[in-house]
Amino acid sequence: NDMHKSQSRVDIATPKRTKDIIGKHGFSFKKSLGQNFLIDMNILSKIVDAADLDETMGALEIGPGIGALTERLAQTAKQVTAVEIDPRLIPILQDVLAPYPNVQVVHGDVLKVDLQEIFKQNFTDVRKVSVVANLPYYVTTPILMKLLEERLPLQNIVVMIQKEVADRMAARPGGKEYGSLSVAVQYYCEPELVCTVTHTVFIPQPNVESAVIKLKVREVPPVKVADEAHFFQVVQASFAQRRKTIANNLKARYFNEGGREALEAVLSEAGIEPSRRGETLSIEEFARLSDVLLAANRT
Ligand code: SAM
Repeated sequence: NDMHKSQSRVDIATPKRTKDIIGKHGFSFKKSLGQNFLIDMNILSKIVDAADLDETMGALEIGPGIGALTERLAQTAKQVTAVEIDPRLIPILQDVLAPYPNVQVVHGDVLKVDLQEIFKQNFTDVRKVSVVANLPYYVTTPILMKLLEERLPLQNIVVMIQKEVADRMAARPGGKEYGSLSVAVQYYCEPELVCTVTHTVFIPQPNVESAVIKLKVREVPPVKVADEAHFFQVVQASFAQRRKTIANNLKARYFNEGGREALEAVLSEAGIEPSRRGETLSIEEFARLSDVLLAANRT
């Protein structure tokens, strides 16, 4: 591994090296692809440290850009796979990552590639895999939901995202940030805010606030539900109109006219006051509600 370590002297994530690489290849940033590259070594260290990688672990990176974070991952993990959508970046990545034989660059849209297949092909010799990325903000939620719903053998997901989205993922019941995204993320993971990040660590600078969030992927969900798809549907329905009570949101989705009594019976059996709003329900309460609705044939 000494060969890898000596490479850190030419780290990519400095303003000068980034500008050199971009200039050499005549690269121009595409806003539509969420291209805001990291040019700060400290923040890269924070991201990589939070992932708890070691030489037995794999790392999956989404959107490597010109390879600033990829290089750090290559020095820390056993095998690294980086999926990049922009064809103009592929030759640059092949160039700057040439010293790292443990890195595989995949050209493709992470929302379309077969991740199960990539795991089978590329992570042959690792104990577990963590996802580490400075995500393209326009597709944060679809990317994370794909990673979680596919039930890949993941340990941690450590990602730079919009601060407002990080706050919603980590939100506890009772506040205005708590919603279906909080419940979905917390069903699969334990979220932890690592740090907030200033604009100056990016080139070009994004016009939203950023944060690094760590999602520790759970071995088993914190609640057991009879039907997962139904559970998520009930959560969605409960937040459909945030200003409405849980009773009114459920009525709109599961009980037609005259279903008032049936609705009250369900809520009473689930132990939930009809006047409460969705944003006050814990994940345990949603689980109970989902199972009682299912048993009452409301799907
Ligand atoms: N990792 C680099 C860094 O930190 O400097 C770049 C991060 S930049 C915020 C996001 C990267 O994701 C860009 O390189 C962009 O081209 C890529 N990207 C955007 N949409 C993507 C998608 N659907 N699949 C894979 N990569 C994507």
